[in-house]
Amino acid sequence: MKNNINNIIKYLKGSNDDFIVTSHISPDGDNIGSTLAMYYALNKLGKNVSYVLDDNTPQNLKFLVEDIKILKSEEVNLNNYSIIALDCGDKNRICLSQELLNNAKKIICIDHHASNDYYGDFNYIDIDASSTCELVYNLLMEYEKSESKNIIDEDIATCLYTGLVTDTGNFVYSNTHPSSFEMAKDLLLKGAKKDTIIQKIFQSNPYNYYKLLGEALNTLDIVDGKIASIMITKEMLKRNVISFNDVDGITSYTRDIEGVEVGILLKEKKENEVKVSLRSKNYVDVSKIAQSFNGGGHIRAAGCTIYSSVEDAKKKIVEAVVKALQGEKYE
Ligand code: AMP
Ligand code: MN
Ligand code: MN
Repeated sequence: MKNNINNIIKYLKGSNDDFIVTSHISPDGDNIGSTLAMYYALNKLGKNVSYVLDDNTPQNLKFLVEDIKILKSEEVNLNNYSIIALDCGDKNRICLSQELLNNAKKIICIDHHASNDYYGDFNYIDIDASSTCELVYNLLMEYEKSESKNIIDEDIATCLYTGLVTDTGNFVYSNTHPSSFEMAKDLLLKGAKKDTIIQKIFQSNPYNYYKLLGEALNTLDIVDGKIASIMITKEMLKRNVISFNDVDGITSYTRDIEGVEVGILLKEKKENEVKVSLRSKNYVDVSKIAQSFNGGGHIRAAGCTIYSSVEDAKKKIVEAVVKALQGEKYE
């Protein structure tokens, strides 16, 4: 079903279902922020809600989930439930078991990925939105209006502010709109813990992160002055005692080089499985490139997985980016 925020509100109000809130694999700030905000809100509205995610929370986001239990799929024992999938552009990336997915009464999808194909029974998708947190904010504001009660408290505001700042790169990327600042202002007035968020997420990198970063920067390679890539192998992660999910911030080093249009981070997950992150600065649609490798994302930030060695994955993705650059108009 196509977009309808009111149908989602109506369903939430009318149903006796239990709810599972979840998001995509490789969690980021918008993933955890939007899921946790929805979790708190549904709890407040008297629903029985479980937070399920079969992946590990990055170190710098753990402060958000300290007080709650994120369940793994096998710990869930529910019969009559619906799933709310947040910030997940692709049904196959929803990070819980196939069994839970198949037995859900309804799937409600709230998301902002350009590659989303409206896989939910109910969808609220806006590819221009800064973040899924902005969509959850809109939904909760509508809900508040319809019931004349306050839902967004300090905790929910903190979650929503987290997704907003992480997905906009601190209000820098092109998905930052006037509405993003309006929402930020309102969340701060509602008690979002801005300073804690900034310190925990952007100013608490462990020493090992910098050792790994040094090694990673040594692999920096620039093609035609326009494509930059960095490789992180599983040996590098092991040597520097740092987790796969804790190095995503390195992606921006590839894009932030003068003259570079497309930045690429290749992270080896296991042998012959490489997670690729793509970023563009001005004109290349990296979501399209990612989709050609069965991935997806946004125009300026996308990802995919390539099943080969890191060197081979690099060759394949750089080749695709070169082609995309040749096909683009230079404005
Ligand atoms: P990342 O490079 O992991 O930061 O991802 C950039 C954006 O693309 C995020 O919005 C991700 O959710 C999305 N993305 C990353 N990998 C994939 C994938 N394999 N399939 C679909 N979307 C992805
Ligand atoms: Mn995300
Ligand atoms: Mn997002």
